[in-house]
Amino acid sequence: MKFKTFVFMAILFVLLYWIIDEMRRKNVPMPTEVNPIVAEKRDQLIQRAAQKGINIVITDDFRSAEEQDKLYARGRTDKGTIVTHVEGGESYHNYGLAIDFALLLKDGTVVWDLKRDDNKNGKSDWMEVVTIGKELGFEWGGDWYGFKDYPHLEMDFGLSIRELQYGERPPVNE
Ligand SMILES: [Zn+2]
Repeated sequence: MKFKTFVFMAILFVLLYWIIDEMRRKNVPMPTEVNPIVAEKRDQLIQRAAQKGINIVITDDFRSAEEQDKLYARGRTDKGTIVTHVEGGESYHNYGLAIDFALLLKDGTVVWDLKRDDNKNGKSDWMEVVTIGKELGFEWGGDWYGFKDYPHLEMDFGLSIRELQYGERPPVNE
């Protein structure tokens, strides 16, 4: 093969690869709500925590890519403190596969307190909720290396963010 032919073929290959890549990305729409399995597990989490005398609130589940971008701007281009390290399309929230929780006190206050033990069983209420979450199949943001996201629970169904960005989706029926 001549060198020119080789270069031409290489360019063609890269171009084709790029086109296919773009097509793969655009074929599948972004989810618009929380995944039904995650929704079911979220409700079970609330129930099971309540059975242990711990009331929780879900502060966030599905979040659109636009909402994620707004959140990302906080503490960067917008006022406030940094609350997330990922932009739109990079969070499991954007695919309806993550939830955030907080503790709900008797007086109605919502707290992010990892130490309190209001049901007085010698265990941190927060960690009890995390344990239930893990039993239900969630992965906990507090286990991450680097940036730790303590209120965050996610279910990835074996899919990476990259795969989700490419349009892969969890099974609809389990
Ligand atoms: Zn989260």
